[in-house]
Amino acid sequence: MKTTELAIVGAGPAGVCAALEAASCGVKVTLIDREEQIGGQLVKQTHKFFGWHEKSAGTRGIVISGDLADQVKANPDICFMGSAEALGYFQDDGVLLLETPVGIQKLKPERLLIATGASEKMILFPGNDLPGVYGAGAVQTLMNVHGVRPGKSVLMIGSGNIGLIVSYQLAQAGVKVAAVVEALPNIGGYAVHASKIRRLGIPIYTRHSIKEAYGTACVEGAIIWQLDDNWQGIAGTEKQLDVDVICLATGLTPLCEFLWQAGAEMAYIPELGGFVPLYDENMETTVEGVYVAGDAACIEEASTAMAEGRLAGLAIAYSLGKVPADEFSRKRAESLKELDELRAGPTSGAIVKGLAVMKEQMRKRVSQ
Ligand SMILES: Cc1cc2nc3c(=O)[nH]c(=O)nc-3n(C[C@H](O)[C@H](O)[C@H](O)COP(=O)(O)OP(=O)(O)OC[C@H]3O[C@@H](n4cnc5c(N)ncnc54)[C@H](O)[C@@H]3O)c2cc1C
Repeated sequence: MKTTELAIVGAGPAGVCAALEAASCGVKVTLIDREEQIGGQLVKQTHKFFGWHEKSAGTRGIVISGDLADQVKANPDICFMGSAEALGYFQDDGVLLLETPVGIQKLKPERLLIATGASEKMILFPGNDLPGVYGAGAVQTLMNVHGVRPGKSVLMIGSGNIGLIVSYQLAQAGVKVAAVVEALPNIGGYAVHASKIRRLGIPIYTRHSIKEAYGTACVEGAIIWQLDDNWQGIAGTEKQLDVDVICLATGLTPLCEFLWQAGAEMAYIPELGGFVPLYDENMETTVEGVYVAGDAACIEEASTAMAEGRLAGLAIAYSLGKVPADEFSRKRAESLKELDELRAGPTSGAIVKGLAVMKEQMRKRVSQ
């Protein structure tokens, strides 16, 4: 069986930054991703990044991922296993099972970091199982990675940044965006993205949702309607839209199956995206030696995923005896400050609240 000092599942911004940080301290890293390319979600993000941090805001995600991939490839202490899907983690003997292009392999790491990102949330409505109903990430993958338009006319559900950005990209690709609907009374994303959509003549209906999708073998249209104060559709407000694609940008939830398998204590914290592992200030879960970073820990942004990755990589290197205590304390304080700064913006209120719930649960656990 192969062994490694640190195995990282997920080569998105969180996993890559953890790998680079740990390797810079002398840790031998195996970085695993089911995709061939390094970068996770960033490889499909052709837009200029939202966020306000000087290190990434304004740069295209695809440029950031290219830069990270170059750094990984140039680092002799990182072994990147692409097209390798982690299938499971055996809690009793600490072994990862991988499906690789050369067959099934077992890997026993001294430390494990789960940086698997997130999965998209579906919503319930009649016809949501028809071909033509997509998640926004899937639409981005089709268009920006494979150069394929998902259809001719789209109804976008959700006006957060992702819904707005993907609507804009659809329009740029020559796809008609019939409307964006948003259940909340206000648009969720940044005004700059909403303005771009409106300038293209795309209506954004707040306090609206989808009533149903219809079609025989695939989506042929959708009915939207206005919502009342109890989130119920108001009869008589229906609008019919001729669309062949319904795109759901209704949120993400952490992908943390391996943490369940590892026996990590999990908690349902809606502000962080759903079920998340409890973890401490070093990003270590309640299972010693098993760490988490990025969207798998809490649904946020790539800038925080990168900062969390660096923090986890540093803490792992320290736990392996590769970093002196004073250097670890200094660099850890810098990382925590960076995360605090990233979360000081007006849109981070819910995250800060969710993290406080997590901290309290960890405190109670330690004092038991
Ligand atoms: C449409 C869209 C637009 C966005 N725009 C922005 C933006 O402008 N600014 C911003 O800051 N953030 C943006 N985000 C959010 C940002 O992309 C994420 O927060 C960030 O990518 C999270 O990084 P991560 O490393 O945690 O996960 P990911 O980037 O999702 O990477 C996870 C990696 O894990 C791999 N993986 C998962 N399971 C397995 C397995 N079992 N075996 C092997 N590999 C596995 C995946 O293939 C993937 O490569 C956007 C997100 C979306 C969906």
